Amino acid sequence: MRALITGADGQTGSYLVEALRLRGWDVHGLRRPTSELTGSTGPTGSTGSTGPTGIRWHEADLTAFTDVRDVVARVRADVVVNLAAVSSVARSWEEPLETAMVNGAAVANMLDAVLATRRDGHEPHFVQASSAEIFGDPSSSPQDESTAVAPTNPYGAAKAYAHLLVGAYRARGLSASSVVLYNHESPRRPPSFVTRKITSAAARMARGIQDSMILGNLDARRDWGWAPDYAEALALVAESRAADDFVVATGEAHSVHDFARAALRAAGLEEGSRSIRTDPAFLRPSDAPLLVGDASKIRRELGWAPTKGFQDVVTAMVEADLAALD
Ligand code: GDP
Repeated sequence: MRALITGADGQTGSYLVEALRLRGWDVHGLRRPTSELTGSTGPTGSTGSTGPTGIRWHEADLTAFTDVRDVVARVRADVVVNLAAVSSVARSWEEPLETAMVNGAAVANMLDAVLATRRDGHEPHFVQASSAEIFGDPSSSPQDESTAVAPTNPYGAAKAYAHLLVGAYRARGLSASSVVLYNHESPRRPPSFVTRKITSAAARMARGIQDSMILGNLDARRDWGWAPDYAEALALVAESRAADDFVVATGEAHSVHDFARAALRAAGLEEGSRSIRTDPAFLRPSDAPLLVGDASKIRRELGWAPTKGFQDVVTAMVEADLAALD
């Protein structure tokens, strides 16, 4: 089986590459020409080459529509997984147009390109990494595949468009899935996300390099899972070619404040009055108070289950950040 993964050099993409390689798949990755994360032998242009991780890299910006179509046509993958995205909700307010292009329009381009490879008996499958942000500020919890799509920020709106478009192409006959991923974290998470910001701060506080962490909304409650588990969910969908929508979540919500306290504990610190501080600069124009998912469907149909709970995720991230300082 051959996969083409966009965003294969990102957090979840890198774990998905590992999960599919373990299954013996031929894995091709698409990354931006400017991408710094490697694993390849260098820039590969349009031909692709095999790097140390056994992945063949192709380089194109997702909004270079013709280049992306060329890669999709040339690789002719059995499964195309779209993980490339403007991944930060906060940044989507600063760059709404780029977010619309990358998280929305580029998915239309890719779906059409994948559909065009469907000939001579080749039946491609498309997997879209969707997001809990498509539900906006939902009136009921936990959310599942039937929850209304009603985003409240540019990131969620672009992801919602892509999610709905996957449904449209599925109705047209393309085998396509939208996997609604709740927040998923790991030591590979960039520090622009609150979890990694917290765990790296806790590690630095434990080593006496800084004395506090400065955050935004401490009350937001999120369903934080372990990124490799979410890559495994994507691998299961890719392997089974289940053309459907699936929510992937742990079903447990914790506040940002809970996460910060858990990280301090994992770093062996007591919470002092100045350990966790706030600055309005880190607040967002809108922020759902609670997002928590119900993953019963993927558990029932594909046998997926999370392997790490909240404290395990926090501890693994803090330990990695402590080790990086030693
Ligand atoms: P997101 O859910 O994909 O936007 O992931 P983030 O990790 O960026 O944010 C998760 C939650 O943490 C949101 O509700 C943020 O408002 C909240 N949050 C609180 N303080 C911070 C902060 O300092 N940085 C970030 N990135 N988020 C914060």
